[in-house]
Amino acid sequence: MKNTTKVLRYCKSCIKEIKLNPARYLLERKPLICDECISSIDTKLEFRKAFDVETLFLSSYSGIIKQWLMNFKELKDVELGPCFLNIFLPIIQTAFPHYLFIPLPSCKSRVMERGFDHLSLILESSHLRFLSALEKEEDSEQKKNSGPERFKAKRISLKNPNLDLSKEKVVLFDDVYTTGSTFKESLEAIKKAKPKKIKGLIIMDNFHVDELRMK
Ligand SMILES: [Zn+2]
Repeated sequence: MKNTTKVLRYCKSCIKEIKLNPARYLLERKPLICDECISSIDTKLEFRKAFDVETLFLSSYSGIIKQWLMNFKELKDVELGPCFLNIFLPIIQTAFPHYLFIPLPSCKSRVMERGFDHLSLILESSHLRFLSALEKEEDSEQKKNSGPERFKAKRISLKNPNLDLSKEKVVLFDDVYTTGSTFKESLEAIKKAKPKKIKGLIIMDNFHVDELRMK
């Protein structure tokens, strides 16, 4: 490493100066998060089938990532964009080589209100190849409903009905996996573009086996 100029870097999560331990300095050229914040990530790293799709769950629905997601989506702290996948990138690149990432869709009014599509921004700031191929109908109606009606009201489809992904292996990407209903609908929609292979990547796992048993 020839560059001896000391560049001060600040943790995007706690804003403290990042004091890197030597091991990390070898692995990361531009660290985003300090050691302390990294240790607050509730890492899961579990591969599990989600509707027959081999899916990688990065963390549990707790810890610092849950806080980041709130700050990112609700307080629009876009600086956090690259943080979500950062420490997992070597694993993601190994698990999904040459895959095209497909963010699960948010409804248009939420994206307009926020000013950005949060999942696309996470993928873009992590330098992953992605395509926002799916769209979701407005869910203004679904809030009035509850229970099973709420799920019927969701509609996810291909933005371009003629989209051909027959030369691509794709990864469906979402932030939180709870019941899997959005994932399942997105899966049905993306299958129409006939990708060679479909896998899944979820940042936070909020799925509870007990809920499944009740169905
Ligand atoms: Zn920090």
